[in-house]
Amino acid sequence: MKKDQLFTRRRALLAGAAAVGAVGTAGVFLWGEDAKPVRAAAPAAGAPAHSLPLKPSAYRLQPLTGYGPPRTVPGRTPVRHEPLLKLTGRGRTMVLTFDDGPDPRYTPGILDTLAHYDVRAMFFVCGEMAADHQDLLGRMADEGHVVGNHTWTHPLLTGLTRRQIHSEMSRTSDVIEEGCGEPPRWFRAPYGAWNRAAFQLGAELGMEPLGWTVDTLDWTAPGTGTIVDRVEKGAAPGVVLLSHDAGGDRSQSVRALRSYLPQLLDSGYHITVPHRRYT
Ligand SMILES: [Zn+2]
Repeated sequence: MKKDQLFTRRRALLAGAAAVGAVGTAGVFLWGEDAKPVRAAAPAAGAPAHSLPLKPSAYRLQPLTGYGPPRTVPGRTPVRHEPLLKLTGRGRTMVLTFDDGPDPRYTPGILDTLAHYDVRAMFFVCGEMAADHQDLLGRMADEGHVVGNHTWTHPLLTGLTRRQIHSEMSRTSDVIEEGCGEPPRWFRAPYGAWNRAAFQLGAELGMEPLGWTVDTLDWTAPGTGTIVDRVEKGAAPGVVLLSHDAGGDRSQSVRALRSYLPQLLDSGYHITVPHRRYT
């Protein structure tokens, strides 16, 4: 009960900060298979908890009449001001994310390691890669991984028009739906370069924005040992880890996972994927 109250207080504080346009607070969200969607029983400061990320423009997406079932209505995704960056929840939990794929040279090796340890991860795929490797998308979905949208061509979204951003996102969502059987629920902007249109369009397409907490910088090919070290140093409860399974030679990333994943598990970390709260 205490914990709930604290959480409610924190949400209220964050809601207050959002209301005055403060930015810079790391986005957090609740994770966990066993964690029920957080419904603060009585939000302390008036605003319901779910109003935190909403901007006025988001209200037009909501039905104006009728109440229906409270939440569980699909497609109701808030428009955020910033991406979610880490998890909140109980225990030593982390999320592994792999971007830019799928690439048949590296993605299968990553999937093999995850399967070996019976661990689920997230793959933020690019449409132009995914379109050529639908089999890998199917395997990701079959093995319980979460497939997210990372745009079609991996552009810097901040240099695109709204129409171009929409095209990058929606085409990729279509390919993911074809390969996985359902549209993506998560979006990640290339280079972590977000803008207002990306948040709005992502929400319209039913996706939550996910950033990361720790970047392994594996794309610089610093050596397998260095990647492993970065993961070990960065490991902490709630961390969302960024790695890559495509975009260059990712053999170090594949090898590093074989080393750090068992180490994380031995250290008591629960590697999981986030669950959406709003849909
Ligand atoms: Zn990327």
